[in-house]
Amino acid sequence: MIVVMRPDATKQEVQHVVKLIRDLELTEHIIEGSDLTVVAVIGDDRKKDGSVLEQAPGVDRVMKVLAPYKMAAKETRGGEKTQVDIGAGCVFGGKHVPVIAGPCSVEDEEKIMVAARAVKAAGAHALRGGAFKPRTNPYAFQGHGEDGLKMLAAARAETGLPIVTEVLTPSEVDMVSEYADCLQIGTRNSQNYKLLEACGKQPKPVLYKRGMAMTLDEWLQAAEYILAAGNPNVILCERGIRTFEDHTRNTLSLSVVPELQFRTHLPIVIDPSHGTGHARLVPAMAKAAIAAGCDGLAIEMHQDPEHALTDGAQSITPAVLTELMSSLQRVAAAVDKECSPCAAEAATR
Ligand code: PEP
Ligand code: MN
Repeated sequence: MIVVMRPDATKQEVQHVVKLIRDLELTEHIIEGSDLTVVAVIGDDRKKDGSVLEQAPGVDRVMKVLAPYKMAAKETRGGEKTQVDIGAGCVFGGKHVPVIAGPCSVEDEEKIMVAARAVKAAGAHALRGGAFKPRTNPYAFQGHGEDGLKMLAAARAETGLPIVTEVLTPSEVDMVSEYADCLQIGTRNSQNYKLLEACGKQPKPVLYKRGMAMTLDEWLQAAEYILAAGNPNVILCERGIRTFEDHTRNTLSLSVVPELQFRTHLPIVIDPSHGTGHARLVPAMAKAAIAAGCDGLAIEMHQDPEHALTDGAQSITPAVLTELMSSLQRVAAAVDKECSPCAAEAATR
């Protein structure tokens, strides 16, 4: 159930609704939108009588949310989209479509700095790079861990770009959260519910990638773990799924964009790099993603893809990113969105 308060409802009336919900042995989550407050009822409310809530002062209406993901469901915010601000004016879920770009992994201090400068010069809005890498092979480069986080922080200090980086285990969430502006949960950890909960309990936004074998419904139910643990700032990221097709590394399922816009208020980011596995396919799929209505992009870029320690084949160069940024601006305008260069870079142009 969700309880939609009247626009003029007082704080006391909201608190009274909270008390009634707790009396029903359920818990609440208050969502304050720009126009009205909604109280989501958390827990199994199927056998509970909501009429007591309907009659409470300040309540406009009580709605049953049929989806199993109550907090992620679109109705819960009355059709209003969630906007997730990761810092430095980089907001997902509004008219502007930010681009996160950077190497797959943080390789060394100098390389991440060169990459960060290139990301900024191209006009992209946030820097990505893994300090903790989930590798298929245990002998492959695993990332520099906390040292990598420090390198990212130095790149942020110089460029002003917010940083997005992956966290692999619940025990490392606090450490990654201290350095990062946005925590990434990768495809391999998409159903690590303890990790999802831990990310839900820390204050930074989360870029939550779809599991490579997850249905959309499972993905939204899993996102609910982060939301229900107390973190409303979740960005969904489609990065491709496993299919029989082998001309790409994964199959980038772009139809999730309109479907998710229909089902959830959470912003949706597309990762055309892992979604295709080939740099030459990335620009077209990035443009297609914006045309489909996504709220942001996450793109792997490397200044020397041939020598990248990880995911070189799918990393575009700074020159390609720069050119892509200007086409993205035009595609965004065609669908009534914006993808203008990051503020810091625009100021220096
Ligand atoms: C990455 O972003 O480098 C990464 C490991 O992504 P995914 O979890 O989508 O494979
Ligand atoms: Mn990668």
